[in-house]
Amino acid sequence: MPLPSAGPPWVLDRKDLGLLLASLRSSGYRVIGPRVRDGAILYGEVKEEGELPIGWRDRQEAGTYRLERSEDLRVFDFHLGPQGWKPYLFPPHHLLWTARKDGGTFRVEAGATTDGGPLAFLGVRACEVAALRVSERVFEGGVPDPTFRDRRAALLIIAVECSSSAPTCFCPSMRTGPEVTQGFDIVLRELFSPWGHRFLIEAGTDRGRELLQPLPLRAAAEEDLADLEAQRQRVREGIHRALPVEEARGVILANLEHPRWEEVGRRCLACSNCTMVCPTCFCSTTEEVPSLSGEETQRYRRWDSCFGLGFTQLHASSVRSSISSRYRQWMSHKLATWWDQFGSSGCVGCGRCITWCPVGIDLTEEFAALRTKAASTGAKAGGVPA
Ligand code: SF4
Ligand code: SF4
Repeated sequence: MPLPSAGPPWVLDRKDLGLLLASLRSSGYRVIGPRVRDGAILYGEVKEEGELPIGWRDRQEAGTYRLERSEDLRVFDFHLGPQGWKPYLFPPHHLLWTARKDGGTFRVEAGATTDGGPLAFLGVRACEVAALRVSERVFEGGVPDPTFRDRRAALLIIAVECSSSAPTCFCPSMRTGPEVTQGFDIVLRELFSPWGHRFLIEAGTDRGRELLQPLPLRAAAEEDLADLEAQRQRVREGIHRALPVEEARGVILANLEHPRWEEVGRRCLACSNCTMVCPTCFCSTTEEVPSLSGEETQRYRRWDSCFGLGFTQLHASSVRSSISSRYRQWMSHKLATWWDQFGSSGCVGCGRCITWCPVGIDLTEEFAALRTKAASTGAKAGGVPA
C-alpha cells in the first residue's frame, strides 16, 4: 500500500485507535499520553488504549479544577491538566555530571541526556505544539542544551486538536490555536456525531506517514469535513478570554511602574505554581551532592522559579525582595522581554497558570488592567521588535 498522502485527511474509526498505539509501540516508541491520576489528567506512559481518559472531562476556571465522568465515551474530551510535556524534555531533577577522584586528579563524566528509547507524545494540543517551538528557541538557540536537544530529536509528536475549549483558554489571541496546523508528525481530530465516532487523521512528516501505513484508513467524506468545520467553530466560539499578543510587549513596557503590580503583589502567594505548570518556563538552579566518602560529587539541575526569594539572591540580598516585583518580572518576561531574548512570546495562551493559581490570579485580567491605564494615558501599545 502506498504511504498515505498529506491530504485530504483520512478517517480512522474509533474502534481502530488501538492499532495506532500498536503501530507506535512496534516501531520502538514509548508512548506518553494523558491518564487519570491523583484527580487530574496527567501525562504518563500509555501501554494500551484502556489507560487513556476515555469518558472523562474536566471543569476548570481560575483557581478551580474538577474531573467528572461524561456519558459519550470520547477519548480526548478534556482540556489541559497541570502537567505539560516539559518534564520529558527538561527533567525537573537531572544529573548533569559526576566527578570522581582518580589518583592525584579527577575524572568528570557527563550524565545521560536521554532516558530509554524514543518517545511519542500522544495528545499534544495546538498551544502545546507552540510551547514546544518556544522551548526549542530557548534550549537550542545559542549554546544547545544537550538533554533537550537529544530528547527532542528523537521525539514523535501526535497532536490532538481540541474538540471543546476551557474557560481559561486564550490561544486564539496568542495566535497559537485552537486548530493544529503545523509542528506535528500526526494529528488526530476526534469527531463524535450522528455520522459516527471517528478521528480525522493526517500525517505532517514522512515519519508520521510511515506510521499510518498499517492502519485501516478511508478518505474523509463531505460529512466528516462538515463535522470538523462545525466543531472548530464551536471551539472558537467558546473561547472568551484574550490577551492580544501584538500589543502585550508595548503595554507592559510602558507600564512598569503601574500601581497594579503592587495590587497583584498583595494577592499573590509567591507559591510558584504558575511557573511549575507553565509549558515554557525554564528557570533552574544547580546543586552539588558530594558523597560522604569524599571520593565523588554529583551536580544536578533542578527546576526553580522566579517567584522564589532565593532565585533572586545576588551576593548578600535579593534583587527582587517584594512579591510584586517578582510577579512583574514573571509577567513582563513572559509577554514582553521574551521577544527581545528569544524572538517570540513566552506565553502561548494555554491558561494553566490561571487554573492552577491557588488564589485565581489571571494574567489576562492583569494585562487588561494595565492596558486600560495604557490606553487612558495614551501610552504606546504597539508591537513586538522586528
Ligand atoms: S504564562 Fe500561563 S497561559 Fe501563558 S503559557 Fe505559561 S501557563 Fe500558559
Ligand atoms: S500568581 Fe498565583 S500561582 Fe503564581 S506565584 Fe502567585 S499565587 Fe502562586
